[in-house]
This record gives sequence, structure tokens and C-alpha cells, in this order.
Amino acid sequence: MIKDIASPARTQAILEKHGFSFKKSLGQNFLIDTNILRKIVDYAGLTEDSGAIEIGPGIGALTEQLLRRCRKVVAYEIDGRLLPILEDTLSSYPNKKIIHQDVLKADVAAMMKEEFAEIDDVMVVANLPYYVTTPIIMKLLEEKLPIRGMVIMLQKEVANRISAAPGSKDYGSLSIAVQYYSEAEMVMVVPRTVFIPKPNVDSAVIRLTLREKPAVAVKDERFFFQVCRVSFAQRRKTLVNNLTSGLPSGKEKKEEILGALEKAGIDPGRRGETLSIEEFARLSDELYPHFC
Ligand code: SAM
Repeated sequence: MIKDIASPARTQAILEKHGFSFKKSLGQNFLIDTNILRKIVDYAGLTEDSGAIEIGPGIGALTEQLLRRCRKVVAYEIDGRLLPILEDTLSSYPNKKIIHQDVLKADVAAMMKEEFAEIDDVMVVANLPYYVTTPIIMKLLEEKLPIRGMVIMLQKEVANRISAAPGSKDYGSLSIAVQYYSEAEMVMVVPRTVFIPKPNVDSAVIRLTLREKPAVAVKDERFFFQVCRVSFAQRRKTLVNNLTSGLPSGKEKKEEILGALEKAGIDPGRRGETLSIEEFARLSDELYPHFC
């Protein structure tokens, strides 16, 4: 019986057969542990009626596990050298489509309309290229795609930031941006030894379950995110100091800022990292008339 693509021996054989050399600049660290791949797919909760979108299939280690579990897999791969390899390794699976494209430039919504028209349940499942983890996650969330959620492997440090709660050292504007759209949980920590080549950082898997509507209702989404970013700009500074130095003409509008904080019921001496997402929503709504 042919071994799974992810088995170290088969991966080695595929790489040798095709004379493939890794490109560090594309975040190419391939998984060589079938158990971990199966667990990732388990966390996605796929059924035979589900669809999956993968970012960066590499030589197909995760793609193969997904193809065995669900009805259709569409994968975006930026590196053209991998296309003939995937044709070879995944030749026995008709339910796949590989798109040779940078996912950051892709019209994923249009692809979904075409490829998943008859599939209701779609998950993004990926071992992300680490140099672009955050832009990829934010693109997929901000586009409000009709997906149930995402199960993704990424740097542990970024996974900590995404799933952090108020008051923790990892809590910041990334935690709020992701948790605004989804419920985030870290489900697994993964050692460096299960990749080739071995990355310099530890990894983790997070599951994002999309909310039906955002965690909070705000007057203006862009301004809400701006207030969050500004509030974390210098973590040692108090909220009022970050807001006056970060918002446009903030210094001249200190009185308005203090008034908005009072109306929102937030002590101006607190630090941004202690505010819940609801408190940021109240604050940005009170500040909004003075800045927009
Ligand atoms: N899924 C494979 C695995 O788990 O073994 C490979 C994962 S590897 C960490 C990341 C993959 O993403 C590589 O195949 C890389 O070429 C691809 N990639 C990098 N940047 C990309 C982008 N912007 N769009 C699509 N694919 C990308």
C-alpha cells in the first residue's frame, strides 16, 4: 500500500523524484506527521458533504487528508514548481482543484460561488506560510466569506496573540480584530520536529468559528479598529495618552476624549490591554462624533 504523502519516507521520495528545493521566502515548511494532519482535519469537523479551502498545499500532505474526508477541496498555491508535483501526488483524487495564485490577490468569494455552489458547509484548513499569516487571516475574515470557520497552523506566538483575553500580555489589536469576526481557540501546540525543513519557531493550531454577526455592534467599523490600534500603540502608556497622541488632532481634542471616556464609563488611567471588546465598542462610539 502506498504510504501517506506526509510520511517522512514518502515526502523524501517525492522531493527527490521532482528535484524540489525549498524556498524559505515562501514559508515552505512541509508537515511530515500524519497524526498531526489527521487531528487538524478532525478539528475542522468536516463531513462527506463539506468543502474545504486550503492555502498553500505544498506537495499535498494536508490536501490528501482533506480529500479523503470531504466532498471537494480547492487549494491556492503560489509556487508554480509545485503544480506538476501536486498533479502527480494527488492524481487519484478527482475531487480537487489547485489554483496557481497568490491567495492575497485571489477573489475567493467568486471562486466559492463557482466551486462550492452545491456545498453548504465550507471550512478553510491550512498550514499557513508564516511570512504572511496575519494578512491571510484578516483578508479571509474581512471578506465575510460564506465559510463556517478556519482551522489553521501558524506560529505559536501569533496563535497566542489571536486567542488572548483582556489583561494578558498577548492581548492586542490582532486579538480584537480576529475575535470581532470569530470565536478563537488554540487547540494544539505543535513541535518544530514535525516539519521539513525545521522552522525556527514553535507552531500551534487555532480554530476560528465565524460569528453570525460581529461580537459587538459599532457605529463605524474602520474607526473602531483605529481606536483599538491607537490604544495599544505604546503599551506602557495610559489609554488617554495613547488616544491623544494617536487620533488625528488628538492633542487639541483632549477634553472631548476625556468626555468620551467618562460617558463610556472607562477610567482614562487604564491601559488599552485591560479593555474588553465591548468597552472598546462603547469608547469608539462615544469618540466617533468628535473624529468622523
Ligand atoms: N500544506 C503543506 C504542508 O502542510 O505540508 C505546505 C505548507 S507550507 C507551511 C506553506 C505553503 O504555502 C507553501 O507550499 C508555499 O509555497 C505556499 N504559499 C506561500 N505563500 C503563498 C500565498 N501568498 N498564496 C498561496 N500559497 C502560498
